[in-house]
Amino acid sequence: MVSLQSKPIIMLVIDTLMDTPLQEAIKGDRAPALKFLMEKGKYFPDVVSPFPTMSVNVDTTILTGTYCNEHRLPGLVWFDSEENRLVNYGTHIRELWKLGISQSLEDILFHMNGSHISKDVKTIHEQIEEQGKKSASINALVYRGNTSHTYKLPRLITWFTSIKKDRPTFAPTVFTYGSLKKISGSNRFQRLWQKFGFNNSFSVQELTHLIETDQLPAFTIVYFPELDQRVHKNGRMDIQGIEKVDRHLQKLLNIYDTWEEAIQHNIWITIGDNGQAWIDSNRKIALIDLRELFGEYNIMKLKKGVQSHDQIVLAVNERMSYVYTLDKEKLSMDELVHVAKNEERIDVIAWKKGSYIEVKAGKEEGELRFRKGGPLIDSYNQSWDIEGNLNLLDMTVKGKSIHYGDYPDALERLYSSLYSHQGDFIIVSAKPGYEFIGEGSPTHVGGASHGGLHKQDSLVPLVVTGTNSQPSYLRMKEIKEWVLSLIG
Ligand SMILES: [Zn+2]
Repeated sequence: MVSLQSKPIIMLVIDTLMDTPLQEAIKGDRAPALKFLMEKGKYFPDVVSPFPTMSVNVDTTILTGTYCNEHRLPGLVWFDSEENRLVNYGTHIRELWKLGISQSLEDILFHMNGSHISKDVKTIHEQIEEQGKKSASINALVYRGNTSHTYKLPRLITWFTSIKKDRPTFAPTVFTYGSLKKISGSNRFQRLWQKFGFNNSFSVQELTHLIETDQLPAFTIVYFPELDQRVHKNGRMDIQGIEKVDRHLQKLLNIYDTWEEAIQHNIWITIGDNGQAWIDSNRKIALIDLRELFGEYNIMKLKKGVQSHDQIVLAVNERMSYVYTLDKEKLSMDELVHVAKNEERIDVIAWKKGSYIEVKAGKEEGELRFRKGGPLIDSYNQSWDIEGNLNLLDMTVKGKSIHYGDYPDALERLYSSLYSHQGDFIIVSAKPGYEFIGEGSPTHVGGASHGGLHKQDSLVPLVVTGTNSQPSYLRMKEIKEWVLSLIG
């Protein structure tokens, strides 16, 4: 079964895997597979996720090795100023309905991979397959590759929308996208209530098929979506959720005669995609309603789209939001900042001013400005010019070195989101305990949520088993280059 080439790499992306609950689960002997992978490999508790800490942005960073200023996918929700419309890949069915189901499905099924992710960057799948090797994507929403595939769309979709049946999408050679595109031919775990195959069981089934039929390519990325949903509901310390994911991983290791054999044959990279911050259990305290905060202005209604009297568009990404002014001559960014400053539950307000990025916080004195280049160097060897109150981003400077505290890689991550797309907008990020809502936003009162710049949203664990190598920096951004080096 082992070829002469380098070992196949299997990357398991477990949405919302976090260090503290993982350690707790292992202490209680409730995650034997993860424990095994950690004991036989290396464990890194704090890998930095990109900002905003939303899956589509994170996954695009993993695949392209760039932040959103280069890959150009700004978040789950953003305003496309060229098309003058809100793009929403699906925060909640209520919102999709208002935006028009046909448009939303097109965005998620075709535009996101086909045109929204920049053509100036290459995905890991594209690069591996250009080397003449094969790559696989199982249940990831971001998957761009070089091979043309067609989805098997449910009749519900082809009847009620204008989406054409045989429209192609480009993915790696080996490609699973729920029940819409599968490799095994099996019909289990794909019903409507099983989210059309976007569940852990189906992911395991598809990967099992590849292993058992000896078809594992050089690189396989497999997505496990369920823990995210549980943590949203039950909060950060959902040990049972980890226990459940671990049972799926046990099934994978059990395909081999021994678990030891599983790691002799393959390199296993197990990683979270974003963390989650706790959310207050009092609804009134937990939810920051941006429609109220910016209530004196005309905010675009989702169903109507931009109307002539509209002044503001909200693109709410759970604990972070883009706030756009549609006419900066009449409503300036400074004015938006002034309003956002009234809200003490906001810990980061950021916007572009000339070549600088300015940062303020709700009900907090002072400001901070920074730009690229300059005498100060951060932990990732990036250089910066900084003035003002460093506490706003919990940074300390010793000599010429910048150290990050509560906001990992804060400068580059803020920079990336402010340069991720066109438009005149500010960014707001909430303190742990709170999340933003606009029209029809999902809420997670008493649970947990993400999107923010804070370390609770931003740090995820990484387990590397089957190789002694590790990424140059512990950021998602460095994963692609490192994986490519392993493939050689
Ligand atoms: Zn989530």
